[in-house]
Order: sequence, then structure tokens, then C-alpha cells
Amino acid sequence: MKIINPYTEILTPLDGQAILQHIELCGRVCYKSEDKITDTSAAKFVAGIIKRGHEAVLEHFDITVKFVCDRGVSHEIVRHRMASYCQESTRYCNYSKDAFGSEITVIRPSFLDAQGFAIWKRSCEAAEIAYFDLLDWGCTPQEARAVLPTCLKTEVVMTANLREWRHFFKLRTAPAAHPQMREVAIPLLHQMRSQVPVIFDDIEEATHETV
Ligand SMILES: Cc1cc2nc3c(=O)[nH]c(=O)nc-3n(C[C@H](O)[C@H](O)[C@H](O)COP(=O)(O)OP(=O)(O)OC[C@H]3O[C@@H](n4cnc5c(N)ncnc54)[C@H](O)[C@@H]3O)c2cc1C
Repeated sequence: MKIINPYTEILTPLDGQAILQHIELCGRVCYKSEDKITDTSAAKFVAGIIKRGHEAVLEHFDITVKFVCDRGVSHEIVRHRMASYCQESTRYCNYSKDAFGSEITVIRPSFLDAQGFAIWKRSCEAAEIAYFDLLDWGCTPQEARAVLPTCLKTEVVMTANLREWRHFFKLRTAPAAHPQMREVAIPLLHQMRSQVPVIFDDIEEATHETV
């Protein structure tokens, strides 16, 4: 059994200035103010539409992110309906095969001390043994998965537009979100904010608390 930490990877190449200029180009059609476009006008225009709540304009650019997290967190991610997904399938993946190192991979919980960790690890090892026993007994992977733990590592690719990412970050970086969701969402927000100016600035300020 392999134990790893969760992480995210932004799969869309991001050119922050080009994104702002694209949003400006779309948004200025509403006001027929394309004549006001200059080399430096995009940031101010986009900040203005966010301030006025005209967030529909932000739907004109998509970003794709791969989350490597546990299946509890992934289940929460896929509740966001304004997005598209591809997820590692426990129906088709057979973790007893060489391609998976003949072992299951689980996500390390961020909130356990040494004693809690030992209890958690023991239960994961028991689940792994039961999973392999069921496969040996004749179960298919989609049947044997019944005993896999919620902390099983999964990979889920999420594509959403900038408006939905803003919504996602507001919910998923907040103190009320699950600690393991915040563990991936907060660094992802920081990364997006550093790569795409203006769009996420107000969210960062609202949820600055780190995990
Ligand atoms: C702290 C927290 C606790 C939670 N606890 C639970 C729980 O106990 N049980 C549970 O089942 N879920 C729970 N959830 C999940 C929650 O109910 C939502 O499914 C999830 O957060 C997605 O949010 P959303 O619907 O706003 O976002 P999205 O699905 O991403 O939608 C974005 C926005 O689009 C609009 N929209 C989308 N679909 C519709 C529609 N059909 N009609 C009208 N407007 C729509 C809404 O404005 C929505 O906010 C929890 C979420 C959080 C953050």
C-alpha cells in the first residue's frame, strides 16, 4: 500500500494577460466600448465587471485542473454541476496489476496525530487485503471495489469556466469546507491567483486563512 499527499496540477497553459484581454474583448461587446481597448485596459475592465457582479462575462474562458485526492474529496468536487469531469474508475482499474504497482494508493489524512495515523493505516491495510482476496476469489474490480476505503487515491480532471472556479473557491477554501478539500483548494487558489491577475483577487482576500 502506497501513501501519498494530495496535490493539483493546472493542465491549461495560462497566460494571465491574454486571458484578461480575451474577457475584455467579449465583455466590451455588451457596452459597445471596444474602441476603449488598449494594451493596458483589460485589468481595469475585468475588475469593474467583477465589482458590478456582471460575472457572466467570466464564462468565456475555461481552465482544466487535475486533482489527485481521495474519493471523499473527489465526491464533493463532482457536485459542482457547472463543470466537466473525467475520473479514474474503480470499475476498470485493477489495483492488483503491475501498472498500479500491485497495491492500492491512499491519501494521507492531514489531521491525524501518530496514534490516529496508526489506526487509519491499519484499516487501509485490512481493506487492501480484502480487495485482493476478493479479486483472487473471482470478483471483478468493479465488484471488489466495495471494500476500498474513502481515502483511496483518485485522479479527477475538472474543466470549468472562470466564473465557476470563483464559485468553487468561495465554497471550497472557506473554513466550513472539509479540511482535506481546503488542503487542495487553497494552494490551487494561490496558484491560479498568481498566474491569472484580477480574477481571483477578491476571493483570496476573503479566505486568506491557510490550512
Ligand atoms: C460546507 C459545505 C457543506 C456541504 N454539505 C453537504 C451535505 O451535507 N449534503 C449534500 O448533499 N451536499 C453538501 N454540500 C454540497 C452542496 O450542496 C453543493 O452540491 C455543492 O457545494 C455545489 O454547490 P453549487 O450547487 O452552488 O455549485 P454548482 O453545482 O457548481 O453550481 C454553480 C451555481 O450554479 C447555479 N445552479 C446550478 N445548478 C442549478 C439549478 N439546478 N438550479 C438553479 N441554480 C443552479 C447556482 O447558483 C450554483 O451556486 C456541501 C457543500 C459545502 C461547501
